[in-house]
Amino acid sequence: MSDAKTSVLVVEDNEQNMELVEFLLEEAGLSVRKAMDPEAFRNALLGEPADLVLMDMNLPGQDGLALTAELKKTPGWERVPVVALTALAMRGDRERCLDGGCDGYIGKPIDVRTFAASVSAHLRKRSS
Ligand code: MN
Repeated sequence: MSDAKTSVLVVEDNEQNMELVEFLLEEAGLSVRKAMDPEAFRNALLGEPADLVLMDMNLPGQDGLALTAELKKTPGWERVPVVALTALAMRGDRERCLDGGCDGYIGKPIDVRTFAASVSAHLRKRSS
């Protein structure tokens, strides 16, 4: 690997959310790659796999679950865990994300006190 740091690909179209996530993850010592639209996400899939993907479920013109399905079919990325990042709060939506191939779920708005720890917990799950 060219980068020894653990890397997280963040797929998020909202600039403020992206800035907040980037700040919190970098503060936690993680390397952040950003994709703010499906095109940037597909470009990222052409590169070296990340250690974890945070996937906004609500992207313009595209369902995060559809992008998750694409990722799971991309050579090298099949086993990269995808954690849904979503404001969806309805009963059943967590199951919808998990049934749709996501490996975990973090609700929005982001809780700045617990976010980095939640991401780290998902990273540890992956390596165990
Ligand atoms: Mn969004």
